[in-house]
Order: sequence, then C-alpha cells, then structure tokens
Amino acid sequence: MTDKGRRDFCMECRKETEYLLKKKDIVKTIRDKDYTFGITVAVCAECGEEMSIPGLIDKNVQEIDSQYRAAEGLVSIDDIEKLMKIYNIGKAPLSLALGFGEVTIPRYLEGQVPSKEYSDVVRAALVSPAYMKQKLMENRGKLTDAAYKKAMAAADSIESLFSVSEKMLRVIAYVFEKLEEVTPLMLQKILYFIQGVYSALYGKPVFEEDCRAWVHGPVYPEVYELFRDFKYNPIDDARFALLHGNAEALTEEEKKVIDLVVNTFGIYGGKILERITHNEDPWMEARKGYCDSIPSGKILPKDRIMMYYVIINQKYGIDTEEGLRTYIHDMLAKAS
Ligand SMILES: [Zn+2]
Repeated sequence: MTDKGRRDFCMECRKETEYLLKKKDIVKTIRDKDYTFGITVAVCAECGEEMSIPGLIDKNVQEIDSQYRAAEGLVSIDDIEKLMKIYNIGKAPLSLALGFGEVTIPRYLEGQVPSKEYSDVVRAALVSPAYMKQKLMENRGKLTDAAYKKAMAAADSIESLFSVSEKMLRVIAYVFEKLEEVTPLMLQKILYFIQGVYSALYGKPVFEEDCRAWVHGPVYPEVYELFRDFKYNPIDDARFALLHGNAEALTEEEKKVIDLVVNTFGIYGGKILERITHNEDPWMEARKGYCDSIPSGKILPKDRIMMYYVIINQKYGIDTEEGLRTYIHDMLAKAS
C-alpha cells in the first residue's frame, strides 16, 4: 500500500477509483478504559468515502497493538526478542528464569499482550543485567545447567557495558553509526583522537574515562573489556541493541568533533593510527622508562592530552578536516 496511485473498488462510486491513505483517530475501549488510536484508512479520491482495502485490517491491528502497548508502557514483541538475544536464552528458559510459567514468553511472542506486572519484569531485565542475574539466581533450579551458565555469562558481559560512562557509550554509538567497520584497535585510537580534538577546541574532555599507554598506543581499558568478545563489526551483535538511541543525546559540538575525526583519522586502519599516536608527546612521555613487555601502561592524563592538542590546534587548525589531514600527513611522514 503506497500513498498514491493505488486503485480499488469503491462501494459508494460503484466502480474502481483511486484511493488515498490517511490517518484517522478512533476511540476503542479495552479493559473498561477508553483509548484514542491513530489508524490508517483508505479514502476514495472521488467521493471521499472510506474504502476497504486488502491488508488494511492487519495494519490497523498492528497500529492499535503498538499504540496500546506504548500508552500502557508495555514491552513489545521486539523487546522480548532482544532480551532473548542479549542474554543468549531460549523462550521457554527465559520464561522460567523470569519466574513466569513456561509458556508465558512463547505466548507473548505470538502476540498476546503481557500484563503490566509481567511487562515490567521483562523491561527491568532488558535494561539491567544485574536484575537479570538476580532473576537467574532466584530461578536457577528451574533451568538446565547449560542454559543457566550461558545466560549468566551473557549477563556478565553485558554488565561491563554499563561500567562505561553514558557519554562514552554515546560517542561509541555515534562512531559506529558513521563508520561501516571498526576494529577494536581502531576504535581505541578514534576515541583518543576524539578526546584530544574535543578538549583542545572546547577546553574540557568529552568523556570522563582515562586512557592508558599500552604497547599498541592509548587504550581505554573499560572499552577494551567491553568489545573484547564482540565481533569485528559490532553492529551485527545483538548486544549492540543496548547502544541504540544513545547517539541522539550528543550535543552538536560533540557530533561535529566526532565527524571531524571519523572523516580524517577514520579512513586509516589501526596500525597506521598507531604510528601517529606513538609519535605524540603524551604517549611517549607515559612510556618513558617502560619496556614493551609490560602489558599495562600509565594513565595518559586528560589535561596532558588537551595541552598537546591545543598546541596542535594552534599550528594546524584542527577544527577543520583540512587541518587534521595536514597534521596526519606530517605525523606519518615523521613516523616513516
Ligand atoms: Zn468513491
């Protein structure tokens, strides 16, 4: 059903006419409560009467279902599917783990609308791995050992997602939106450059995490932990769903800096970027006196990174892609 050019039989005109799709408000009573739903109707372009079009009833059922759930704050089928993927658990074990009957979640997946009470349990598990772990432990006896362990391991790995600051998650979500493929090594460098450029331009860090001087350059250990077992393209990972919507909460300045970095540094692989960071003062200072066999490095202080990039900004003008490209070019020439 597209908006224009579709034709069907109009009962009023007694012939085939063109119809238009419009939104219409209807009031429906569910469990003794009145709700207003916006549904799609087909209107004859000639007489203006409503027409019955194949597929429209199904669409209306979906519209009413999703608006009813939104009005009551109830989870959707999509939310439940996400929950299963994120915690690596099947529908029947999930039901039992949450303390429901075995068939409850399977019924919800078939379209039955959950009660508010059960819906709240599902939502709590979706937003809090700690809550999910608590539920798993409570209902351990009802689950097979394998199902319990799998879900517990998944909850542990999700928990590390929440040890990263919200701002960091937002920045990462936006980087993933902009770059098709990001390796863990590359992501680390990109985050470091974002911090450097942002703090030089706006006089404060964009996120609170400190990075450390590891053998392969600056690394944010919490982020490293988080993505250690993610696939190379994290967007394919269901757990990435937890990041969705995060990027929208960034300011225009933050987005501008991320765009600058992604469009310049972001075209290089992790190894090339490493050649740049290895020749930057903050990293060289932090590595002084360290031998490369030491796996973890000193903190690279945020003000030190800012100071360095303030000087780079004076020299290159890193508020433009052109300035950043010149800087990258000079650093790579120095490194070779
Ligand atoms: Zn008509």
